[in-house]
Amino acid sequence: MYCKATDKFREECGVFGIFGTEEASVLTTLGLHSLQHRGQEGAGIVSFDGKSFHSVRKQGLVGDNFNNKNILSQLPGKTAIGHVRYSTTGESKPENLQPLFANLAIGGFACAHNGNLTNTYSIKKKLVESGSIFQTSSDTEIILQLVARSKKKKIIDKLIDTLIQIKGAYSLVILTNKKLIGVRDPFGIRPLVLGNKNGSPVLASETCALDMIGAKYVRDIENGEIVVITESGLESIKPFKKIQERPCIFERIYFASPDSLVGNKTVYTYRKALGEQLAIENSILADVVVPIPDSGVSAAIGFSQKSKIPFELGIIRSHYVGRTFIEPSQNIRQFGVKLKHSVNRSCIENKKVILIDDSIVRGTTASKIVKMVYEAGAKEVHLGISCPPILHPDFYGIDTPNYNQLIAFKSNLQEITKLVGAKSLFFLSLSGTYKAMGCNERNSKSPQFTDHCFTGDYPIDVSEILKLNR
Ligand code: AMP
Repeated sequence: MYCKATDKFREECGVFGIFGTEEASVLTTLGLHSLQHRGQEGAGIVSFDGKSFHSVRKQGLVGDNFNNKNILSQLPGKTAIGHVRYSTTGESKPENLQPLFANLAIGGFACAHNGNLTNTYSIKKKLVESGSIFQTSSDTEIILQLVARSKKKKIIDKLIDTLIQIKGAYSLVILTNKKLIGVRDPFGIRPLVLGNKNGSPVLASETCALDMIGAKYVRDIENGEIVVITESGLESIKPFKKIQERPCIFERIYFASPDSLVGNKTVYTYRKALGEQLAIENSILADVVVPIPDSGVSAAIGFSQKSKIPFELGIIRSHYVGRTFIEPSQNIRQFGVKLKHSVNRSCIENKKVILIDDSIVRGTTASKIVKMVYEAGAKEVHLGISCPPILHPDFYGIDTPNYNQLIAFKSNLQEITKLVGAKSLFFLSLSGTYKAMGCNERNSKSPQFTDHCFTGDYPIDVSEILKLNR
């Protein structure tokens, strides 16, 4: 049964797949390496050698586990898929690592999932009551269970049968004995791109994984599209009624790698534009603009260039610790922030400083850093955030936490300013955020993005999760 305390379903992840090439698992390892920012808790690869499937899933970083001949020799074959995973407290179980694999009546089926399903509880309850035995607490397992139980004959029809029942955000990369399959949910919330490496099709969460292996970017998988790759080529299936895509705006603000291409521009370009827009909306007299690295760097460059206030690396980030959120408890997270950032006094002492970060979630990072910067002798510390206040949690795979942990939900601007200890605090407006994305005003009837973190407008019903979290 679902256990509220330990058995959460949320995940942030990256997926990768390559079809018909020598050293498929080596290329998958490289692809996962470049997607490591999407998940650091564990990684896995499933390969197929023409006869058998092979699977290795390990907790820890890709480079620490897969950069090793012994491991890669356990993953032979010309086709492979892989997954990097990040999870919240209570989910750090090896059995939840992906790709998940099952030997179905129709043959082997491996699945790597980025995103979050929103009706897992009700489907799982029904499945368990009718005799299904679950091995993991991952929402992805219901996909395997539903495919296994589908009465349809062909694997693609079984998959469509499954997709019709699941709700939520999903970019899937699936491997069977003949096919590599990519799927993007009807809103296209999480990304998935198609590439080509010397004639071998590649699927990946972001284009940075294609660059890593020298593959060419072909196109994005469309929202609601299934691509089926076989020896005879690529087939595109669109089983859903076409709706306007709503990719998650947070991919561009925080999650994706700055060098990845989204809509013909790099993510860096969007982030810089967010910073420029923030400077247009807020003119502050200061001596230096200092990014909170790494997440605030691109926006701080934009802010500095627009405001003409010099950019300085006033905070140094250690690259030998992971992302703040990887730490499981608030106590350790606070410790983690100190481990991660130190102050470069020479740019701070006696200066009026504008700190820039991409977002505030709990407020932990901001309050620690404002304090450090004051302790280093800053005259004033202003904090600029290159997105609007996060007022609502995410349930589609970014995993910003429950309402009661979101500082902007609990407190107003004045209170947050006081809590983080800054002289002033300013957020980018929602319309400025859309402008920086190259969009007109937010279309309230059919918004261009999934921006529920700011607006509470969830395109897919989340009442089941909200009820469970209560
Ligand atoms: P917090 O310290 O809780 O306010 O978190 C804010 C910091 O975490 C910022 O530096 C963000 O770049 C980063 N961040 C924002 N959203 C996420 C997320 N979903 N997962 C991990 N880190 C995040």
